[in-house]
Amino acid sequence: MQLLLEPVKKHQRQRMESVKVTSLTREQIVSAYVDMLGSARVLTDDQTLKDNSADRYYKVERIFGIYSLPLPAAVLKPGTPAEVSQILAFANEHGINVVPKTGGSATEGGLETVIENSIVVDGSGMNEILSIDVENMLATVQCGVCLEDLENELRKLGYTTGHSPQSKPLAQYGGLVATRSIGQFSTLYGGIEDMLVGVETVFPNGEICRIKNVPRRSAGPDIRHLVLGNEGALNFITEVSVKIFRYYPENNRFYGYLLDDMKTGLAILREVITQGYRPSVARLYDQEDGLYHFKHFSDGRCVLIFVAEGPKPIADATGAAIEEIVASFDSAEPVDGTLIEEWFNNLNWDVSKIEEERVEIRDTLINGFTTEISGNWSVIHDIYVNAMARIRSEISADFSLLGGHSSHSYLNGTNMYFVYYYKIDVDPTLELSTYHDPIQNIIVEETLKLGGSMCHHHGVGKHRTHFLAEEYGSSLYMLETLKTAFDPNGIMNRGTIFPLAK
Ligand SMILES: Cc1cc2nc3c(=O)[nH]c(=O)nc-3n(C[C@H](O)[C@H](O)[C@H](O)COP(=O)(O)OP(=O)(O)OC[C@H]3O[C@@H](n4cnc5c(N)ncnc54)[C@H](O)[C@@H]3O)c2cc1C
Repeated sequence: MQLLLEPVKKHQRQRMESVKVTSLTREQIVSAYVDMLGSARVLTDDQTLKDNSADRYYKVERIFGIYSLPLPAAVLKPGTPAEVSQILAFANEHGINVVPKTGGSATEGGLETVIENSIVVDGSGMNEILSIDVENMLATVQCGVCLEDLENELRKLGYTTGHSPQSKPLAQYGGLVATRSIGQFSTLYGGIEDMLVGVETVFPNGEICRIKNVPRRSAGPDIRHLVLGNEGALNFITEVSVKIFRYYPENNRFYGYLLDDMKTGLAILREVITQGYRPSVARLYDQEDGLYHFKHFSDGRCVLIFVAEGPKPIADATGAAIEEIVASFDSAEPVDGTLIEEWFNNLNWDVSKIEEERVEIRDTLINGFTTEISGNWSVIHDIYVNAMARIRSEISADFSLLGGHSSHSYLNGTNMYFVYYYKIDVDPTLELSTYHDPIQNIIVEETLKLGGSMCHHHGVGKHRTHFLAEEYGSSLYMLETLKTAFDPNGIMNRGTIFPLAK
């Protein structure tokens, strides 16, 4: 397998993967995997292949029954790490592109089968909760365990994962780790990188590696980060051990405020975090996004939200500090905390909401997308203002919503989650290139210009790869070297994280 390295300047090199396809025919691939796994676990029916050729990036085409990407040769359903190992080793030997999958809730093209005769390796059948160890505060699950299932089991015992992405009912542990996911309570519990204790993963040559569960170690680099965020482009995650936390919902305190502008809201967020408080939730919505989420009370103003949780003295002290800090900014008007609590209880997306969205898009021809980035406190407001101004002036679309929110804050800065809903007034096959891609490009350009990061939590996927060299700068060398070392034949999820050659 050839890798095409572009002759570009030091610090600007960008690894390009070749689009060479396997010499095996579709039939040979299917027949080899049927021999390996049995026919029941090698799916080849037309609709399954169509459904597995893309993710939510192409949701509009799918709603209209259009499948413009190459269909995979088969969807494989391994039952054990040993089977994953066999599947990858064969693909590695024969240059077959492998697209790992678990919950299928990806939003950035990570599940697109852009290479002819790819195989999708679907780990959702590996769905056992292997252990809940309350002494060591650990849960170990197979990659196909849905986050909500583990959370429900833990809550029965008085514990929580602390992880609550909006896709909690859909996402599974392989994908949650592979995308560096983050949940609504991240300011207290962290992102998945703060929760992951140990992990088992399989490399393209079939090597199965288990990183053991210890509270911390200084025995060399932290190799968990070769697995976290690899988006299926380096290895296939089969088992995950995560921290668990004691659950104290009875102590939760909810706060909401209305503000006139984002600048004040960001200043309040910064003050709460840098003073050392850790509310589980700290979110700020701009006027348009606020109106969309809180139409009953936002009154067209920005909405600031906090939740304090944990043992009662900590929740109470955090809540009191939030009230005091916000009161020091005269322009913040409090709203009833129960309105915020009610909103939270309906935030997550399950399969029925996805179906409702499909019907709504079909009926209204209005589609929504998001782009999430991050930046230090000193630049995040400028990124937001500059990106919004450029979108308004450069994109001629019939927007029903163009807004954004900050939903995950850190000592050094915060994220910005841009949200845009527009009328699809072009052929569905042109919708991405006419609207979503140019809008996303503007947001990423304005972010990188001020030193922010082009992705905060959805992963690079396949549609931000052209920014990879700028995102990484001189550290691109490290990322490229990982790819070449662990996936020398370039079989893992081509075009994801690393751009494909034209
Ligand atoms: C309505 C909605 C809300 C969302 N909200 C959030 C949110 O709040 N926070 C957040 O972080 N994300 C969110 N997402 C994005 C998405 O849910 C997350 O990225 C999630 O972690 C993906 O998990 P999954 O099991 O569905 O992975 P998949 O969709 O199956 O795959 C995602 C990526 O991971 C790779 N992958 C999957 N399984 C494996 C494996 N076993 N080994 C190696 N690579 C693998 C895939 O190749 C792909 O690149 C949301 C998505 C939707 C649709």
